[in-house]
Amino acid sequence: MLSRTEIERLAQAAHALRPDWPIKSLCTWLMADHASRAYRDVAVALAYIATDTATVTPKRMNEMGPWWSAVKLAGSDATALHFARCEEPGHGSYPAHNCGACRAEDLEADTATAPPATPDPARAEVSTRGADLARAAIAAARGQEKS
Ligand SMILES: [Zn+2]
Repeated sequence: MLSRTEIERLAQAAHALRPDWPIKSLCTWLMADHASRAYRDVAVALAYIATDTATVTPKRMNEMGPWWSAVKLAGSDATALHFARCEEPGHGSYPAHNCGACRAEDLEADTATAPPATPDPARAEVSTRGADLARAAIAAARGQEKS
């Protein structure tokens, strides 16, 4: 979580690298879109984007791009980046903190919880008893019909 002072320092740093980016706009944008991130993470991504010749506005940092890879390489300070993706092979489309593919694999690999046996022997006994009772009742009814 960025403090107001950290946001102002980051905005000033980006403005120093890109004088055409106004400090006030940078502050507003950082507060709105990146205040939940770690100070160093934003500093790394912002330095990348500000010195990138293909970048026109700082808002490009909101997209996925090599600036976030740079953050990752630098060793992210964040506890839970909502942009971070699962690092397992083939899981890149899932967020790191909530990977559906990892959950599915965990369920698949979970042999401790055996699937329920079908039919459940205890229930099979009950249903056999029930069927016997039904047969007996039907036979009794037929017996009454015959007499
Ligand atoms: Zn995963």
